[in-house]
Amino acid sequence: MFEDTARHYIGGAWLGDAPHGLMPVENPSDGNVFAQAPYGSAELASQAVMAARHAFESTEWASNPRLRATVLLNFADELERRADEIADLLARENGKVYAQARHEITAGYSEARYYAGIARNVFGRTFESGPGKMSLMTREPAGVVSVIVPWNAPVTLLVRSVAPALAAGCSVVVKPAPQTPMTNAAVMSCFDRVHSMPAGIINSVNEYGTEVGTVLSTHPEIDVISFTGSSKTGKIIMANAAETIKHVSLELGGKAPAIVFDSADLDTAVAEIKRGALALNGQMCTCISRVLVLDSVYDEVRLRLRNAFEQTKVGDALTPGVELGPIIDKPNQERLLGIIDRADQEARMVVRGTTGGNDLSKGYFITPSMFEIDDVTHDLVQDELFGPIVSLERFADEAEAIEKSNATRYGLAASVYTRDLNLSMRMGRKLKFGTVWMNCHNRLLAEVETGGYRESGIGRLHGTEAMNDFLETKHIYYESGE
Ligand code: NAD
Repeated sequence: MFEDTARHYIGGAWLGDAPHGLMPVENPSDGNVFAQAPYGSAELASQAVMAARHAFESTEWASNPRLRATVLLNFADELERRADEIADLLARENGKVYAQARHEITAGYSEARYYAGIARNVFGRTFESGPGKMSLMTREPAGVVSVIVPWNAPVTLLVRSVAPALAAGCSVVVKPAPQTPMTNAAVMSCFDRVHSMPAGIINSVNEYGTEVGTVLSTHPEIDVISFTGSSKTGKIIMANAAETIKHVSLELGGKAPAIVFDSADLDTAVAEIKRGALALNGQMCTCISRVLVLDSVYDEVRLRLRNAFEQTKVGDALTPGVELGPIIDKPNQERLLGIIDRADQEARMVVRGTTGGNDLSKGYFITPSMFEIDDVTHDLVQDELFGPIVSLERFADEAEAIEKSNATRYGLAASVYTRDLNLSMRMGRKLKFGTVWMNCHNRLLAEVETGGYRESGIGRLHGTEAMNDFLETKHIYYESGE
């Protein structure tokens, strides 16, 4: 069914027709259209919301945690069974190199299994305020959830919202990004194979513009919005949600610094920074986009990183050995080339990225770039660039490292490189980021919370705290009257 068309999935059925036409799905490694997806509409979005509402109110889903656990486990098994095929599709659709795409699928089924366990561990509390006076605090599913995700990790970002929502007993309407409807449909088809899941508990509607997303953030029958995407769109979602006071969980943009001290193991630091900056071609919210280095090791780190960036193997996401695939699409390739031109004029280029020459001319490639800059207020330091481009900045001491690292409006993730444990602990406490890694970068785990400070978001996903977005706490009070 998914060979070349990603259909909407509503009320447990695939929609066969495409009343609003078909959008092309491109492979960014060669620019070829290899699939298509029907456009969504406000009407289809409303239909999906009502299907989710009906399933939530009329089935045993909300009150049967063992059923929910079984569904999540069966879904995880199906995703694992089809892991190679879906990883291949993901690499073709968003340009993530195959090894990273395969890792993403593994993380997806691991996450689903984790929340299957959590589904059976949602407990309330009781409190006795006096003789014959009893309070029950129950944890109940919040209702219908819209899950809006970006293209950069369409499996893990989807599963990390959908799995806790389902574990909590909610029903869901998904909206994938326009660039990755095929991978999304493949994940939906894994749910479709789980026959014990009541129809309408999960639904999905594609779209190209903002019509579907607007319905999913304003519809009165939506109780919770779990959004992952840019801070700019997050602000629109939050404003939309205000009208009907929805719960919002926002996982937004980032501008992760990597901070290198002279006490670092430089081999580890350079390898981690290269990997952390170039994972998914630099198009990951947690990717390293700033490298801050202590004066005394600055020249050494600069030289080593320059060599590492220059030696990066760029190419088709499915070619073995390739480290850096293409940028997601042509508009983003053009946007990044413009940023490189600006960095060349307004900062000092260390490695200048290019489209990779004739060999790569059909795809949307950009080789890695690094520029030196001193002004932390410059847009190039302040804004999320979302590509294989990093700034290199100096600091004189620990205080300046903290001040410069915290000097953007984002607060998603950071990493610190030092073998001095006391220094790591001090940095860990002073950095205003939801995650701080020591001597490594991008270690994301199903079991531990992730999320942003400041304009990087609200709420936490992964771990037990993710359940908070999808549960209401109710107080039921009983008085015996005796
Ligand atoms: P985006 O905000 O443009 O789009 C994200 C999703 O929102 C897409 O599905 C898009 O179609 C939808 N959308 C766009 N406008 C909308 C509207 N008005 N109403 C409702 N939905 C709307 O982001 P993108 O370019 O697809 O993804 C990259 C961004 O996502 C980066 O900023 C990145 O940092 C962020 N991101 C954050 C995390 C995290 O965990 N914090 C993870 C991945 C990506």
